[in-house]
Amino acid sequence: MKIFVPKETEAIETRVALDPVSAKKLIDLGAEVVIESGAGEKADHADAAYTEVGATTTSDRAGQLAAADIVLRVRKPSPDEIAKQKKGAIHVSFLDPFNEPDLIKAFATQGVTAISLEMIPRTTLAQKMDAISSQANLAGYVSVILAANRMNTIFPMMMTPAGTISPAKVFIVGIGVAGLQAIATAKRLGARVTAFDVRPEALEQAESLGAKALRIDLGETSGTDQGYAKELTPEQLEKQRQEQGKVCAQSDVVITTAKVFGRKPPILIRSDVVASMKPGSIIVDLAAEGGGNVEGIVPGEEVVTDNGVRLIGLANFEGRVSKHATQVLAANFANMLEHFWDAEAKAVKIDLEDVIQKGCVITHNGAVVHERFKD
Ligand code: NAD
Repeated sequence: MKIFVPKETEAIETRVALDPVSAKKLIDLGAEVVIESGAGEKADHADAAYTEVGATTTSDRAGQLAAADIVLRVRKPSPDEIAKQKKGAIHVSFLDPFNEPDLIKAFATQGVTAISLEMIPRTTLAQKMDAISSQANLAGYVSVILAANRMNTIFPMMMTPAGTISPAKVFIVGIGVAGLQAIATAKRLGARVTAFDVRPEALEQAESLGAKALRIDLGETSGTDQGYAKELTPEQLEKQRQEQGKVCAQSDVVITTAKVFGRKPPILIRSDVVASMKPGSIIVDLAAEGGGNVEGIVPGEEVVTDNGVRLIGLANFEGRVSKHATQVLAANFANMLEHFWDAEAKAVKIDLEDVIQKGCVITHNGAVVHERFKD
């Protein structure tokens, strides 16, 4: 089976689908691994590091897209590149399937089996392939480091002969994978952390990391069987915004990570709350790429408001630690292929009855097969 890893095409992308360690794992299974020349450059993996483990490198992107049995990439492909893949080939990447009906159609028309990393079920068995979690964890870390870097104050309390410096007050909204890592990172740096989530179990997890949980009585806020939050009603959202506004006004750093699976992120911080914050304070919005949790955030940019609050809405936070983000993402890819590897056929076996594949295979044999996207 030939696996091809093309170079990412979006300028913002610094990751690559395989690092040499995971490439070797797949070669040891019996796969042939071909990497587009320079694909690992932004993650500090030179072509030679891949050839050393038995992969080959090439500049013939179009030829390899056409020849590969499996294409692994980080970001979704263009329709042009889907049209280059051969019938029966497998494509795995983030696909944003809720917002990309045309792309899904293109995969089906081309007869390519498309696997969406976003749709891998949140089960114990599939944890090793869960790219959303592996990347969110690093994004949470980066959000705090970025805030610390932009501040003109420090995180820890310092008692010095010249007086006492108070610790930074950090407020984390959304305590999922990214939020928990943001709490842990801010605590390690010595900040005083408060956190809020609509899922009560997440508040307990925050407390176990030493954060203070903000408790707001929103009534019924159940989650899905996958551990994701359900969308709040407009009344619940309004109550949340009002109660957390006071905490924002006192915070030096606010980090928002709140997402609702398959939907636009909710607006949790309105402009009046931003206007109430102290000059020099920082909001990092990890949901910015999908639209953002904060009014006034500019996706992909950093802006400073009239009252001196810095709004950081950069995209691809995990891409700022490209080597580690690549390491864990590549491990997710290799674990997935290994899990579905048929040793006799030396190939990945597509089996739509398998619970993991049922969750993440979007198109197969010329049709859209995933229940949520069939229509
Ligand atoms: P996510 O990225 O979808 O959302 C981030 C957080 O935002 C979640 O904690 C969510 O509850 C929260 N949120 C949504 N609306 C909000 C609002 N109005 N206000 C405040 N917070 C809000 O979620 P995620 O980080 O991908 O994962 C969520 C949970 O899924 C995890 O904490 C975990 O329990 C579970 N999970 C399970 C597995 C597994 O079993 N394999 C793997 C990963 C995650």
